[in-house]
Amino acid sequence: MSSRLFLSTSDRMTHEDALTRRLSEALTRVRQGAASPSYDEAVFLRELAERDFSSPQALDEVLDWTVGYLEKGGVQMTHPRYFGLFNPAPSYPSECADRVMAAFNPQVCVLSHAPVAVYIERHVVEAMCRRVGFRRAAGHMTSGGSEANASAVVCALTRRSPDFATRGCRAFDGQPRLYVSRESHLAWLKIAHICGMGREAVRLIETDGRGQMSPDELSTVLAMDTAQGDVPIMVAATVGTTNAGMIDPVMACKRLADRYHMWLHVDAAWGGALIADETQRAALAGIEQADSITIDAHKWFATTMGTGMFLTPNTDSLDACFHAKASYMPSQDASVDYYLTSMQWSRRFSGLRLFMALATGGWSAFAAHIQRAQSLVQYANEQLLERAWRVVNDSPMAVSCVVPPKGTTTPCHTIVERVVEAGNAWISIAEFERTPVIRFCITNGTTTESDMDVLVNELIRATDSPH
Ligand SMILES: *Cc1c(COP(=O)(O)O)cnc(C)c1O
Repeated sequence: MSSRLFLSTSDRMTHEDALTRRLSEALTRVRQGAASPSYDEAVFLRELAERDFSSPQALDEVLDWTVGYLEKGGVQMTHPRYFGLFNPAPSYPSECADRVMAAFNPQVCVLSHAPVAVYIERHVVEAMCRRVGFRRAAGHMTSGGSEANASAVVCALTRRSPDFATRGCRAFDGQPRLYVSRESHLAWLKIAHICGMGREAVRLIETDGRGQMSPDELSTVLAMDTAQGDVPIMVAATVGTTNAGMIDPVMACKRLADRYHMWLHVDAAWGGALIADETQRAALAGIEQADSITIDAHKWFATTMGTGMFLTPNTDSLDACFHAKASYMPSQDASVDYYLTSMQWSRRFSGLRLFMALATGGWSAFAAHIQRAQSLVQYANEQLLERAWRVVNDSPMAVSCVVPPKGTTTPCHTIVERVVEAGNAWISIAEFERTPVIRFCITNGTTTESDMDVLVNELIRATDSPH
């Protein structure tokens, strides 16, 4: 028996083989094509509108149409010259994990429903916690860094006043405050909104001229806020800022967190991957003292999307924040049932992506992946410096912020537009310490020095020479 939605075993096998081939061929074409979208939007939107679900279509046709448009209709994350916003070309083991988990579709929110999946996920989370240097290991996979950062805020609010659980922000005598740097990921504003603190609760602390939170500024603002009765809840140090890969002073944040009874969170969504390389540990000094940390495997650990992590040594906090009761749930054990210790209820088995990648490559493959990205950025920086360009960020990570030689009249955003328009490389415009810069980041494990040569040439070609 085979219907359109639920296929017989033999029909399934036919489709899966064809799909595997179709995807491999599409990805090969992507590598050779443009990094930027190269499709006809008007035609696509017309064809999309025609698909009003009134008449069923063969799966083959639906797949052909969808894959055909995806390989042209977007910025290509798998292109070796996508120098973009941390979105990786996914590692193959993590892609396999997606296929495996989709086939079994385990419900990871309770141990009793999916013991093997839950044990694997817990194993990965604990391994990450140990690698961070936490004394105790707790946490869970999240949809991404934003959910993980929001979880940190809920933990911070609940620890500061257990009444927060029942009374919300009325539990505080004054305005609760959240401290992050001006260069932090601005989802913090959205998170403050969602958590009921209000967007004004977020204090964007000035940076020190090098893209890192200024501890003096933080200290001054804390003194001012507490003098007027505000309640400091949390300080979040960014380890690997989005624009420039800079690292906030974690130790100084820790000292102020202790003095003001704040939760110390480390947002290492991208930069946290440095834990894979023991030789670079110094760059992460202090993160083991955090109350929680965000790491996105879907960034520098190169898994497919939707693989964030919230890691913490504070096991009790998770229980205090996310406990629930539902008579229909098969079990209620906060030590193993994720629906009792995290925001999500039904859960995808996203930890499998990181598990399969780490099991296949070990930490060493990721250390090599990181070092390779760093040396490619250095290689491109050297080429540009030789041509009188300037590198403005001093980051230990694999992202570069550059500006053209003095006297150049072409603004950075025009250079970026020209490069992206040409389609040979994808880069972005960013701001570093209030000046526009051109940003490129290595996100693909197969990018080579000759790809960097292409980028350098594209940058120079897009820049009118100074008079
Ligand atoms: C990407 C990023 C986030 C947001 O994470 P998502 O996975 O996109 O939700 C937060 N903070 C930093 C530093 C990031 O790099």
